[in-house]
Amino acid sequence: MAIERIAVLGAGTMGHGIAHAALVAGYDTALFDSSGEALVRAKVSIEAIIAKTLELGRISESETRVAKERLRTFDHLAQAVAHADLVIEAVPEQMELKLRLLRDVEKHAPARAIIASNTSALSLTELAAALTHPGRLGGMHFFNPVHKMKLVEVVRALDSAPETLQAIEEVARRMGKETVLVRESPGFVTSRINAMIGNEAFYMLQEGVASARDIDKALKLGLNHPMGPFELVDLVGLDTRLSVLEFLHRSLGEKFRPCPLLVQHVKAGRLGRKVGRGVYDY
Ligand code: NAD
Repeated sequence: MAIERIAVLGAGTMGHGIAHAALVAGYDTALFDSSGEALVRAKVSIEAIIAKTLELGRISESETRVAKERLRTFDHLAQAVAHADLVIEAVPEQMELKLRLLRDVEKHAPARAIIASNTSALSLTELAAALTHPGRLGGMHFFNPVHKMKLVEVVRALDSAPETLQAIEEVARRMGKETVLVRESPGFVTSRINAMIGNEAFYMLQEGVASARDIDKALKLGLNHPMGPFELVDLVGLDTRLSVLEFLHRSLGEKFRPCPLLVQHVKAGRLGRKVGRGVYDY
């Protein structure tokens, strides 16, 4: 089935970026959020990204105009998904909230529509089980900021139909992204590896193997990582990283036990850039 109309649910950090990617790839895009303010903010952010790409000469004036015209915003779910070929949900990472929303999507979206979730870690199989036809759902895991990050992890839930995954891959490619296919598993590929590296870095700091600055420098210059693990965790938020590690520890076992030094930083309120202080001071 050819996908031409996309509905993005949730207009926050990820939702506005996904809507932008859909617009510039030429899809008619409906953006839904329960908060009118979030929709206004998302529109401003999308227009700012488009303006920047115009300035850099990566898009023409007419493409800019067409992209903006393709965006419609909604604070009613039924209207937002009524004509969608693909629905991508990017509402907060809460199972109950997503399950409720998906049941509503199934009521109001066309029966042919494919449904994708941008969840970072929740079980896609559990999300799919909310649907009468679980084969319609697959994972479409974008990265932040969406307009700069090249990858989409396409995640196969237990019952995802091959046509569902193929459609999600095609859309991701048309958005200019590279894809990897991942069987549903806690943390997929990226979050699992990243949590492991970040946690190990804290153990090294705790053991006094090297300073935070030198551990970051070693990974950047010796292993070609674009950011050091402490620079990255300060950006992501130490509380967010801790909750990912706790989830991986519960589901995958001892090797993901959060390092006590990380736990201590969170208890001290050193949550990263967002509060001006994490591993480093800002
Ligand atoms: P966010 O808090 O920035 O945005 C969520 C948006 O959903 C908000 O605008 C909020 O008003 C809206 N919302 C809340 N309840 C709603 C409802 N019932 N119906 C419609 N809209 C509703 O969150 P985010 O960071 O964009 O994360 C969204 C999803 O993407 C989560 O599942 C998260 O795990 C995943 N994700 C996040 C990142 C990241 O770096 N932030 C990266 C990859 C995946």
